[in-house]
Amino acid sequence: MNAYDVAMQSLDRVAGIMGLSDEILDFLRVPQRAMIVELPLRMDDGSQRIFTAYRVQHNRALGPAKGGTRLHPEETLDDVKALAFWMTVKNSLAGLPSGGGKGGITVDPSTLSLAELERLCRAYVRAIFPILGPKVDIPGPDMGTPPQVMAWFLDEYENIAQHHDPAVFAGKPPLIGGSLGRDRATGYGLVDVTEKILQLRGENLTGKQIAIQGFGNLGTHAADLFTQKGAVVIAVNDVHGGIFNKNGINVKEAMKYVQEKGSVKNFPGCDSISNAELLELKCDILAPSALQSQITAQNAGRVKARYILEGANGPTTPEAEDILHDAGACVVPDVLANAGGVTVSYFEQVQGNYGYFWPAEEVLAKMSAIMQRNAEEVYAQSVDKKVTLRQAAWIASLGKVVAAMKLRGWAR
Ligand code: NAD
Repeated sequence: MNAYDVAMQSLDRVAGIMGLSDEILDFLRVPQRAMIVELPLRMDDGSQRIFTAYRVQHNRALGPAKGGTRLHPEETLDDVKALAFWMTVKNSLAGLPSGGGKGGITVDPSTLSLAELERLCRAYVRAIFPILGPKVDIPGPDMGTPPQVMAWFLDEYENIAQHHDPAVFAGKPPLIGGSLGRDRATGYGLVDVTEKILQLRGENLTGKQIAIQGFGNLGTHAADLFTQKGAVVIAVNDVHGGIFNKNGINVKEAMKYVQEKGSVKNFPGCDSISNAELLELKCDILAPSALQSQITAQNAGRVKARYILEGANGPTTPEAEDILHDAGACVVPDVLANAGGVTVSYFEQVQGNYGYFWPAEEVLAKMSAIMQRNAEEVYAQSVDKKVTLRQAAWIASLGKVVAAMKLRGWAR
């Protein structure tokens, strides 16, 4: 099952409860606009390679499309369509005046030189320029798009537009219009949501044992704040390998180690752990924060965590979620859990439009308040309607999207 099938299943699971008509479902099942481009790249050795890239705008009823850009060797149109759909749901749930968008280039950036990567990123922006703009579509970061990549995107856009327009991309370095706090936003937001859900269930973070799949932007900052708040991060991993220490990993040191070595693999004082072992570890909270479809019907029965905290988009398939619920686990859905990033991307857009920038503390405090409020609302809806947290989140979010579509006359 690919990510798009998962997104469709999530839609089907709330369609009946919400009483969505076939007309509205047909509209929501497809993106409003999808662009596929083929990018020829001159390699350093003089040869040429062609890379496929995408930008998808799923639904713009609530505002311009907004969502990240993923550079990954297995990126497909279906994947980007699913991620754009998730952004529609996530942005609406967070109360942002934004629609859902997502982009991607099918490439393993680690196989390119820095110069090749820059040429590819600039070629991507030239190709999708006609459908970008602060009032049209605002791409942000995702896997493989750190601030330097976002800076190249912005520079290429401004070269073509012949004016400064920092509000057109999110995740840029602060010196050229990025928001302070954007780097920590998704990870910190994940912790805010966890803390609130635990509190609503009469628990707290102190001493909670946490395993995190993916130790990139999201995983590192979440691990850092989790430990600051008294939780114990016992396992993390990345694409190269994983580490485990039942007494807790020194997260700050592990972050430094990753900066030097490019991976957590072989971090001193820890045992090695495979990806499958990490997902099936005995712990309180498992935070899949790397890729989609990591917990499936095949391995869900072996997952022992009481809380599944979806840092990544779509890491749990619908069948897996049923198995987890039957076993008494609580799945905190992606559209709620990882919305801190897009919330601060929106703040970045606002600051860029105004040309007036806020301190990091102010940015993160504003984000934190939104995340905690959303967690509270979703939790209350799930109790009230006797549905899962995911269903409650989708119902609240799509309710607004559909109402906006009706107001615009797109549906009856
Ligand atoms: P990143 O590129 O900074 O880090 C990704 C991490 O996952 C890396 O450590 C990588 O090595 C690891 N990884 C990749 N494949 C893996 C595998 N098969 N097994 C174990 N680890 C693997 O990306 P990120 O920004 O941290 O994003 C991670 C996830 O969070 C993605 O699903 C992304 O869509 C989602 N997300 C990110 C943001 C954001 O603002 N960064 C916002 C919302 C959602």
